[in-house]
Amino acid sequence: MAPIAKAMMKLNFCSLSSGSSGNCYYLGNEFHGILIDAGISATSIRRFLKNMDISMQAIMGVLITHNHTDHIKGLEVLTRKTGIPAFTTQKVWKSIPGPQKRISSDCIREIPLKEKFHLAGFDIEAFPVCHDAPETVGYHICYGDKKITIATDLGHICQTAAPYIRAANLLVIESNYDEEMLVNGHYPHYLKTRIKSDHGHLGNHQASAFLAENIGDNLKHICLAHLSKNNNTPELVLQTLQRTFSERGIILNGQPKISVLNRNMPTGMIRLI
Ligand SMILES: [Zn+2]
Ligand SMILES: [Zn+2]
Repeated sequence: MAPIAKAMMKLNFCSLSSGSSGNCYYLGNEFHGILIDAGISATSIRRFLKNMDISMQAIMGVLITHNHTDHIKGLEVLTRKTGIPAFTTQKVWKSIPGPQKRISSDCIREIPLKEKFHLAGFDIEAFPVCHDAPETVGYHICYGDKKITIATDLGHICQTAAPYIRAANLLVIESNYDEEMLVNGHYPHYLKTRIKSDHGHLGNHQASAFLAENIGDNLKHICLAHLSKNNNTPELVLQTLQRTFSERGIILNGQPKISVLNRNMPTGMIRLI
């Protein structure tokens, strides 16, 4: 992208909702914004953005990660009422189920995997992650020298996804379940097995271990995301992270900053520039 005078630059991130009941994230620069997933109602998206003084007209597109309801629930209404285009790989688009397929094809922009495209001033790359949908992607988004990686549904961190996660200045990464709560909880055996599998969700212990092993000076902010309603709590997420870090002799002195994203409401705006 063309260099932009630093004084003019602005880069904000906010989670509108994060968890197994619905996901939607906002990233905006001084000119435009984008959304990542539309897994809450279009009304909620509109209301949350309005409360943050963000105009719907500023939103240039919504990036879709995969076809699960908690990522696309509001997509059909959002695209129909606002005309905001949805960006997604061909495989993800083909896998979107019937009712959501009412989305006008005019609103769909197919994107390649692992190839940069430009939108609203951002350079964006979709990368594959391991999850039990026909295709699931994370997004690596660059603006100036800032790098944001969003990986919210992944059973494990594979070799393809790891470099995108390591490169982030702001990382949004799944910390879905506490292992003990899941094992001792009331979910049927098949569901517990699915969640824990390599194509299910990332547990607190997995996210913490990866971060402890891979944390670098470039990482300024970690957002722990997509918490399970029934098998996790924000306190357990932080306890697991702190325990894992201290076991490995890692002391956090306020950096990177760590946020646990709210399941049903926006988590405060994070200013990257
Ligand atoms: Zn999900
Ligand atoms: Zn999913």
